[in-house]
Order: sequence, then C-alpha cells, then structure tokens
Amino acid sequence: MSTPSAVPPLHGYLPAQSARTYSSVGYCIYCGSTCQLSDEHIIPLGLGGRLVLPQSSCSRCSAKTSKLERTCLRTMYGPLRLLYGLPSRRKKSRPGTLQLKIKRTEGSEWEYVPVAQERYPFLVTFPYFEAPGALTDTDESAAAGPVTSRLWIRGASSHHHFQELLQSLALELGVHSLMPESKAEVSAFCSLLAKIALSYIIADIGVSAQRSRLAHIALGEDMNNCMHYIGSVATDEPPSDSLHEVSLTRRTRNGSILVRIRLLAKLGSPTYFVVLPSALAEARPNKSLNSDAPNDGAPVS
Ligand SMILES: [Zn+2]
Repeated sequence: MSTPSAVPPLHGYLPAQSARTYSSVGYCIYCGSTCQLSDEHIIPLGLGGRLVLPQSSCSRCSAKTSKLERTCLRTMYGPLRLLYGLPSRRKKSRPGTLQLKIKRTEGSEWEYVPVAQERYPFLVTFPYFEAPGALTDTDESAAAGPVTSRLWIRGASSHHHFQELLQSLALELGVHSLMPESKAEVSAFCSLLAKIALSYIIADIGVSAQRSRLAHIALGEDMNNCMHYIGSVATDEPPSDSLHEVSLTRRTRNGSILVRIRLLAKLGSPTYFVVLPSALAEARPNKSLNSDAPNDGAPVS
C-alpha cells in the first residue's frame, strides 16, 4: 500500500485566524440586489475563516454560494472539520463514524467499514492548476473550464503520525489493507476561489465586480473558460504560520487586480491566484472598520 505524504499530527497544530469585520456593503456583491442581504464569510466559516463582510450577499446568491462551499468542505476537507472542531453550520448532522475503504485479505474485494471519526485517517485535497490565462494575456476563448491535471493530497490525523495510525487501524480492524480516499470537486472549488476573491477585493479596496464573469463563476452559473481567471502555482511553498492567507495586488500595467489565496496554508497547501480584469472592476468606497487584526493584504498603490 502506498501512503500519501502526511502533515504533522494536527492536535493543537492548526492556528486560529484573526477575526476581522469589514464595513457593511449594502448590496449583493454577486448580482447587485439590495434585498434580503446577509453577511459573507470571505473564507468559509467551516474552515475557520473569521473575515466577515456584512450585508453583502442576497438570499438567492447566498443559497448558491453556500451550496458550492458545502460541496467543497464536505468532500475535500470534511473530516478535517469534524476532527478539529472547525465550525459547522449543521452540527446536528455530524456523524459519529465515517466509512473507510478496506480489503480483508489480499484476494478479497474492497469494501467499506465504519471507523470512529476520532480515528479516521483522512486526506486533505487541493487541485493544482495552470497559471490563469489572464496573467499571460492569452485570449479568454482559449482557456479551459474547470480542470486539474494533478492533485495535492496529504494524509492527516488528529493525535498520531499518519503512518502509525494506518498500521494500528489495520491491526485493530484485522484487515489486509486500507485505502483512505480523496476527492477534488474542481468546479465547486473554482467557484469558492472566485467567491473569496470577489469578497476580498471589495472588503480590502472597495472595488465592486457584481454581474462580472467572476461573479458568475462564484455562483457556479457559467464555468466556461474559468481557467482564464483562476490558476495556481505549480511548485509548493513551505508551510505558513497562518491558517489561511489572502492578499491582493493591483497590476499597474493593465489595471487588473490579482488576489492570492492559500487555504490551510499552515499545511503547506498550493497557492491560488484569481484575476479580476480591469474592465470588470468598478470603484466604490468601502473603508474597513472594527478591525482587531493587522491588515494581512499587500499594500495597494
Ligand atoms: Zn445576489
């Protein structure tokens, strides 16, 4: 059995993100509606995100972005949230056990057995992308829809080293081999990155892009050519001291805005870039307030 590389035992390892509430927006950052507005967590609450953009998402758009976010959290980071107590909006639905794929003997078929969530060997998954097409000034029509050629996968467990956990679980269950599984919801993940970028751009510099292509991507309405706006770096950076990283730069040459996003940066995860082309950006003042943390964004000239 080949074992994926592992991150350290996570008990007490994941730091908390500093809380910050930005100034209220007063309209939906996706569609521009002013009806039934709710607060947006820039990084999902379910991943410990504590950057809040008040009054910035209408009920219709909120339903769409929340559904896509739940898809990512459940499939790519679900066990992480269960084990480390990251917030869930649906606490009552948390299961006590999770299904693990096992083989009882060398010749037998794979099957699933329940394992207590505290003992579950889970995988954290991120897709790698090409650089965003907009960064290389290629034509948007040449860009692909949501697609990945490679995944970043790390084994993780609560109190044990991953390899020790796999060995002790195999003994405990009396099985020949076990196979932790990972899944990347690439399309929903691209929508999540677009959502984080759009909400961070308005929070940090007050630039609004409702009804833009990025807004449609965030809502999962039109994913064609989305790799024009979204991409990643192909090489891994060392783990950060922060739980997550978000920062923003304005590209002076053509006026586009670039948001750098690294979710679970503490685990050494890939860095993503989301580009808002200049033609989509419309300036609106939105000064931040009520901050109890230093601005973690890059200075904007
Ligand atoms: Zn809306």
